[in-house]
Amino acid sequence: MRQKKVFYVLLQSENCEKIQRLTYVTPSTKNIAIIGSTGSIGTQTLDIVAENPQRLRVSVLAAGSNVDRLIEQAVQHRPALAVIADESKYARLREALRPLGIQTAAGAPALADAMERDDFSTVVTATVGYSGLEPTIRAIRSGKDIALANKETLVVAGELIKRLLSTSESSIYPVDSEHSAIYQCLVGEDPATVDRLIITASGGPFRTLDAGQLQRVTVADALRHPNWNMGNKITIDSATMLNKAFEIIEARWLFDIPADRIEAVVHPQSIVHSMVQFCDGAVKAQLGLPDMHLPIRYALGDATRADAPERRLSVADYATLTFERPDTRRFPCLSFAYRALAEGGTTACTINAANEVAVARFLAGQLRFLDIYNVIEATLAATPFVAAPGYDDYVATNAEARRIATGIAAEMSAALS
Ligand code: NDP
Ligand code: MG
Repeated sequence: MRQKKVFYVLLQSENCEKIQRLTYVTPSTKNIAIIGSTGSIGTQTLDIVAENPQRLRVSVLAAGSNVDRLIEQAVQHRPALAVIADESKYARLREALRPLGIQTAAGAPALADAMERDDFSTVVTATVGYSGLEPTIRAIRSGKDIALANKETLVVAGELIKRLLSTSESSIYPVDSEHSAIYQCLVGEDPATVDRLIITASGGPFRTLDAGQLQRVTVADALRHPNWNMGNKITIDSATMLNKAFEIIEARWLFDIPADRIEAVVHPQSIVHSMVQFCDGAVKAQLGLPDMHLPIRYALGDATRADAPERRLSVADYATLTFERPDTRRFPCLSFAYRALAEGGTTACTINAANEVAVARFLAGQLRFLDIYNVIEATLAATPFVAAPGYDDYVATNAEARRIATGIAAEMSAALS
């Protein structure tokens, strides 16, 4: 059943020509909600909306706390509703948007409630971290399609999301560049012929550093990603390579393929966005410049192609594309993917919660880079494991793991000073 959901659009897309003709003859406007509109993915999504006013319209914009940017976006895009998660910013939002007749709301429950409105059909989940889980669940329950950037939703509760999709009209279209690449490679292919997924990783800013150098890296060093310009949290996850672990987990749930058939390979140029190997040995890859507009546009087009104004890849500019095996001794966070998928239950939820705490501490200059891994490891050892979790178990595990991780990180910080 899950396979039907995941590959539904792939099957539709087999006849690309027909779909494109239909799109051309009957251009219809798709109404969308963007949660996390003020961030890196959110603003790039709005670029695409601005280019295609006849195809895309924003019904709901939601952000965390950047109320000024949310107001600017609402003034430009005129959604029916703007939501700010940070309730302390509500008065400012309401006063700014009332004269325009734009409804406003504040708080996480209001954001989740907004997912059940009937004035849009697709939600772009561009929030960061655990905050994406409840709105995504509510959106799936009310039959919305998901353009999924918020990978943490699948990391925390992939099994639950998979169950919900099996009884919902919703489909998920990946926004993460690697998963979009895999999706594109699978179009027109029989899922039964897939042998393995090969997820590329840039290796982050510390790819070539030795263990001693990794001890001394700073926040500024870690935020200097060589190829991608992203939000702070995912940039740190890329530096620890936990981001790649999360992407392996994400791929397991998106493509319904066991962990032992998903591998990560370091590809420093970030031109090959990922690959699929088939049963006859053939490998298909999707290439492009590192630019998230392409996967966002593809997801918003329900996995169809549209003209794009961005600079294009010229392969002749790349004399060398290289691939190497990741080093899990220097980047041990990568191994959390296989541990989480082998143990199942709430293990990945605990890893995610501990990481969110540790990354926030690291960004605040209160934790060493290598201690991000240590906080996760120690939190896993101390957090109760639930083998067959329901939604409430994920909520409880997330809260408990955060509490434990906060204590562990504080002890590590104290040892530093
Ligand atoms: P950013 O940090 O740039 O943006 C995060 C967005 O989420 C902001 O709009 C922020 O609002 C909002 N937000 C934060 N906390 C909450 C909350 N509690 N409730 C509601 N909204 C909240 O992150 P990115 O855009 O880089 O990443 C977003 C997601 O996409 C992540 O899951 C990431 O892993 C994934 N992703 C990102 C890629 C990229 O290139 N950036 C690539 C692939 C995946 P505000 O700023 O107003 O506080
Ligand atoms: Mg990615």
